[in-house]
Amino acid sequence: MKEPFRKAKAILTKLHNNGYEAYFVGGSVRDHLLDRPIGDIDIATSALPGQIMAVFPKTIDVGAVHGTVIVLHEGEQFEVTTFRTEEGYEDYRRPSHVEFVTSLHEDLKRRDFTMNAIAMTINGDIIDPFNGKQAIEEKKIQTVGDPNERFREDALRMMRAVRFLSQLSFFLCKDTQSAIRKNAQLLEKISVERITIEFEKILAGPNCQEAFPTLVDTNLVQYIPGFENETKSLATFSTYNWNQLKGRSEYWTLVCHLLDKQDIKSFLRQWKLPNKITEQVIKNLICLESILLKGWNKRLLYDSGKDCIQQVERVLGVLGTYQEVSLSEMYNKLPIKQRSDIMITGADLIRWYDRKPGKWVSETFERVENGILEQSVENNQEMIKEWLLSCNPK
Ligand code: ATP
Ligand code: MG
Repeated sequence: MKEPFRKAKAILTKLHNNGYEAYFVGGSVRDHLLDRPIGDIDIATSALPGQIMAVFPKTIDVGAVHGTVIVLHEGEQFEVTTFRTEEGYEDYRRPSHVEFVTSLHEDLKRRDFTMNAIAMTINGDIIDPFNGKQAIEEKKIQTVGDPNERFREDALRMMRAVRFLSQLSFFLCKDTQSAIRKNAQLLEKISVERITIEFEKILAGPNCQEAFPTLVDTNLVQYIPGFENETKSLATFSTYNWNQLKGRSEYWTLVCHLLDKQDIKSFLRQWKLPNKITEQVIKNLICLESILLKGWNKRLLYDSGKDCIQQVERVLGVLGTYQEVSLSEMYNKLPIKQRSDIMITGADLIRWYDRKPGKWVSETFERVENGILEQSVENNQEMIKEWLLSCNPK
């Protein structure tokens, strides 16, 4: 068994020794069967949350009412969840309460897709009541049970289906795809935070080129925040190689650039992204549009800063607008990177000119800044003084 499972085996052993059933479940078993790198390991057990917490010395209660406890073991975190069904779905969302059950089979039955409804024992034996292994071999995304029912229980599953298509290069089986088309509107019931997680995984997937047309074909596009009237723009997404991008703000920069929107800020606000990401995207867009419109200059590189330049450079690469020079290299060559690098202060200016402080100080300072950037003057106190007084005597 692969390394991540080896470490987690101790958790299963401990649960077994205390008289509980425990299995590996979810994405880690799927990825193991696919021979892909394993992400987080999920464990399902017959132990109740209180019993899980009693067995392990270090746990974090992240949602015991839903049956989930995080167990800390050898510096790593493992999600341990009590066997449960999710009954009483209201309003097409995840249920507010769950019911704990005693059988693994019931727990697997509530899972979204057959490939995600496989359990693995501590010895590596596979328990696969819904033929998930075959679905994996055939690269098939198929719901456990009737797709219409499953999407009505929790409409986010429709986005998850497209996310797996993008992430794993699988395809939607026919009845799953037509059920999405039929139920797409239910996505309106889902909180934007949950949609964001899946949408970002779609953007980051190696097969996103196939995922974008699927969002259009299934009509999900109409219910993705801010995409109601963007079917045409979304259809163009496939022509770009998104896989060259790194990180959330780069993805969102390209998304915004490709959309036909007047008000990008309110579009970004709709997605409820962290402020840091929104601010970076807006900064990137200002820099990107300026380069596309007027080309680059040293002042733009200086104002944008290193992170922004690196991100915009990758977005420009994806857009196919290659620059003759490397913008990052040009940035690195700038004689100053920020105001505080300048070897003079406002006090120096006031002394040299023997004038009262005022607006002229910041204006002169900016002239010095541009002078250094354009290499008209060296960043050296004496040289700056000489340069200033020769072109602007007292
Ligand atoms: P990833 O590789 O992104 O972690 P994953 O399949 O592990 O993929 P998670 O969101 O971590 O996805 O969920 C873990 C498991 O929980 C899934 O494999 C699936 O069995 C189940 N699951 C998650 N979300 C849902 C849902 N909305 N409806 C039903 N089952 C779900
Ligand atoms: Mg997971």
